[in-house]
Amino acid sequence: MPQLYDQFHDSDHIPPRRTRAPGSGYPMTPSPGGRRPKRRRRRAPVLPVLLSLAVIAGAAAILLTALRPSAKASDAAPETPPPASDALTASAPPATATPAPTPNNQRDIPIPDWIEQDLLPVNQWSRPGDPLPQVNGVVIHYVGNPGTTAEQNRSYFKNLAETHETYASSHFLIGIDGKIIQCVPLSEIAYCSTVRNADTIAIECCHPDAEGKFTEETMASLVKLVNWLIDTYDLRREDIIRHYDVAGKECPIYYVRNPDAWESFLDELTFPSP
Ligand SMILES: [Zn+2]
Repeated sequence: MPQLYDQFHDSDHIPPRRTRAPGSGYPMTPSPGGRRPKRRRRRAPVLPVLLSLAVIAGAAAILLTALRPSAKASDAAPETPPPASDALTASAPPATATPAPTPNNQRDIPIPDWIEQDLLPVNQWSRPGDPLPQVNGVVIHYVGNPGTTAEQNRSYFKNLAETHETYASSHFLIGIDGKIIQCVPLSEIAYCSTVRNADTIAIECCHPDAEGKFTEETMASLVKLVNWLIDTYDLRREDIIRHYDVAGKECPIYYVRNPDAWESFLDELTFPSP
């Protein structure tokens, strides 16, 4: 420090010249006082600059040495593409592991023995054979033909293949006596609930008169069947609906005109706890 201090104060010219940019008149205004101070001035900055350069060079060398291993690693990377590509391939399955939700109706569901299976022959009018991969609900209907039996309604569906009267069917029919007949496999759609054919199970219930109220036997079987479907497909209360809720049709008529009776039916069902 004392040396630097002395050098700066050797000449009066030093402070203003140091503020100038190099070459901005420094050689043009040599001090007439002699060359010694000039030499001192020139030599004085050179030493510290050289020292600084040496220090910087040393530091750079140390830095380069420290960085060399990583530089080697990065240099080596292009020489070993197979491991890199293998690693990418290995990590590919987890990256693309975003499978679509599995439909809930693509397994073989055993039918309980309290259901009589009497499947319709495949035909375009009542059993098209189209798959029903996902079941999101159950739609309840009434047959609209008072006093008819489950068997008679099944025959009606079957005969549509000949009569071509309309497109109609349901997965299940429940008779006035509580008998349950399955007409269409759970894995296939039925023609019963218009826009919800594609994701629901349809149940048609017989009724003794035009009022459309189900008998106790019919209602008991309906509760049993729907509870089984709730359990099979993990359904919620809002998934159990009337044909009316799908298309506004007055079906099942008694439970459209008497919403309390519909709610009472829903209250009898057993849903999984949330
Ligand atoms: Zn209906």
